[in-house]
Amino acid sequence: MRPVALTPLFASAQSLAGIGPRLVLLLKKCLALPPGVSEPRVLDLLWHLPTGVVDRRAEPSSRDAVPGSIVTLKVRVLKHKAPPRGNNKAPYKVTCEDDTGRIDLVFFHAERKFIETQLPEGEERYISGRVERYGETLQMAHPDYIVPPERRGDLPMLEPVYPLTAGLSGKVLFKATRQAIERVPDMTEWQDAAWLKARQWPDFKTALNRLHRPEDAQDVSNGAAPWQRLAYDELLAGQLALGLVRQNIRAQRGRSISGDGLIRKRIVAALPFKLTNSQITALSEISTDLAATHRMLRLLQGDVGSGKTVVALMSMAIAIEAGAQAALMAPTEVLARQHADTIAPLAEQAGLRIALLTGREKGKARDAVLERLASGEIDILIGTHALFQSDVVFKDLAFAVIDEQHRFGVHQRLALQAKGSNGGTNVLVMTATPIPRTLLMTHYGDLDVSKLTEKPAGRKPIITRKMPVDHMERLIDRIRVQLAEGAQVYWVCPLIESSEQSELAAAEERHAHLAQIFGNTVGLLHGALTAKEKDTTMAAFASGDLKILVATTVIEVGVNVPNANIMVIEHAERFGLAQLHQLRGRVGRGSRESFCMLLYKQPLGVTAEQRLTMMEKTEDGFLIAEKDLELRGGGEMLGARQSGEPGFRVAEVPGFEMLLSAARDDAKLILATDAELASPRGQALRTLLYMFEADEAVRLFRAA
Ligand code: ADP
Ligand code: MG
Repeated sequence: MRPVALTPLFASAQSLAGIGPRLVLLLKKCLALPPGVSEPRVLDLLWHLPTGVVDRRAEPSSRDAVPGSIVTLKVRVLKHKAPPRGNNKAPYKVTCEDDTGRIDLVFFHAERKFIETQLPEGEERYISGRVERYGETLQMAHPDYIVPPERRGDLPMLEPVYPLTAGLSGKVLFKATRQAIERVPDMTEWQDAAWLKARQWPDFKTALNRLHRPEDAQDVSNGAAPWQRLAYDELLAGQLALGLVRQNIRAQRGRSISGDGLIRKRIVAALPFKLTNSQITALSEISTDLAATHRMLRLLQGDVGSGKTVVALMSMAIAIEAGAQAALMAPTEVLARQHADTIAPLAEQAGLRIALLTGREKGKARDAVLERLASGEIDILIGTHALFQSDVVFKDLAFAVIDEQHRFGVHQRLALQAKGSNGGTNVLVMTATPIPRTLLMTHYGDLDVSKLTEKPAGRKPIITRKMPVDHMERLIDRIRVQLAEGAQVYWVCPLIESSEQSELAAAEERHAHLAQIFGNTVGLLHGALTAKEKDTTMAAFASGDLKILVATTVIEVGVNVPNANIMVIEHAERFGLAQLHQLRGRVGRGSRESFCMLLYKQPLGVTAEQRLTMMEKTEDGFLIAEKDLELRGGGEMLGARQSGEPGFRVAEVPGFEMLLSAARDDAKLILATDAELASPRGQALRTLLYMFEADEAVRLFRAA
């Protein structure tokens, strides 16, 4: 259970004074809420950190106030001068003075009443804002603060600047965060004392205070001690959570699965190629895992086209050899079908019974599959997330392969695992996204990883060129020549329908354009088609009836048409590197020389230019992934948002990698000595997990 002391932090933000239903809506827009949280809570305000400070500490006399700077002045109000009637362009002026001179406060479109009550003639006020010189006079337009001397304390001399949204002011956030911090209870320190001391980091509450109530302009920086401390807290919470999940999976005795190798032999005999060394190594790692008595959780990383599907099939065969069942889950319908199509002929020769289950299998057909599955007449079930449905019951699921992992979240992974019988399902997660080490650590801890580093023999390099979209006619001429030689082309556009406001190339328009030139050999594939239409189109392209396939990014994942050798990507500058790499991986699979043409619209920004140049220079998915991380940060690449994996709230800071690897080592050490988090520090760390809502892990010892 969450410690009671934390309860006030998890209350709705509306429980704070000054925050009503209207402001809650604005907060909802402005704060980054974790997945699954729809209403901003007090806690969410704590993580809404300032991006800088406004320094109001300069308190010169009016004579010495430097034009252009922000100052706080103590003045006497002399007289009000309203604009002439009917002229609402002229400002409302209030002349004030101190002992050294005068200053005009000016208000445009002013609310007279407001000014009169704020600045009564003859009284003293503190005002704070930017001063300017206007001819001979000193002016301050719309002071940020006007307070009477007795309320001087309300004027923040160092004011944090928050990311805002229209209608939400910094002042509101300033007040709200103050209350939020007051609700943070005193907690036992969860970090190691020596480590804190070495880094000169403050305690948790002090860190929050120094960020939301800076006493020094340097406090508010993601490189400074308070922020770094919180970043480390978040990373440690994440690593601990992963460690706990992993420990839990490990502790569950899996069953030892091994087979006689007969089915695998038959598959190898049916393959039209030899396995690469990488594939053989990965398979031996997997079979060792399966034979062990703990539950397997392994990641198979392999660039597009590296041949993961065969590895999946051979691994599943082990489960079948052992008399059990296996499942293969893909993120999309198209991909699930394609896996089924690829695997079917091999399975048939090896004597494996496979079936497909997606959202489209309904009624009698679906019932029949479920029945055969439950009675053990199906060896391998291939499908989409439809496999999660609760009425899908296996006779004896021993092994599950999840393809293109980055599209699924932790929850789904656990749900599939739960379907296993006899001590749980062994899981192999496959990803084509080459995940850099840092990200792997962040999202998976030290998961076991097998890598396919070699490309299958006979692959030719893909010639990649960027090209301004204005040169499209030249490209079309070249395509005409290529088509005559039997080539096939993917043509990717980012949007489905054209909108006048948007300059995005529209797939439908492009399709019409190309069909004018190349006739009915041009097909169109996009997300709004029915599944059946998609299948028909894909099949026509695979069989060569269609020569050019205009598509939105639905083809991104996994489609395999070896004869296709040209990839054209429109508005390539709008895609991320990882996505471009995935798309390019659709070609270069056959014997033909392959090309990837990156069309861009001029002018090209610096980052976009770097991205496209990187694509021209290398086909190494790992290099590209590292660069991608550098250019746009990691969360996006992993598709963290879509998959429902939590992103970071404070941890995106300079020195991230160093902090992360320290957090990982720390978490390892903690769990090695205090696996149940039962020691005093362990107890404090539980609170840390709750603070960062690492629920997944917390649930594991909830019973304890
Ligand atoms: P991915 O890793 O992107 O899922 P696939 O498993 O779809 O790659 O394999 C891509 C293509 O490479 C397929 O046509 C597959 O038959 C072929 N392939 C796989 N392994 C080898 C190999 N060892 N030698 C030659 N071709 C292979
Ligand atoms: Mg694949």
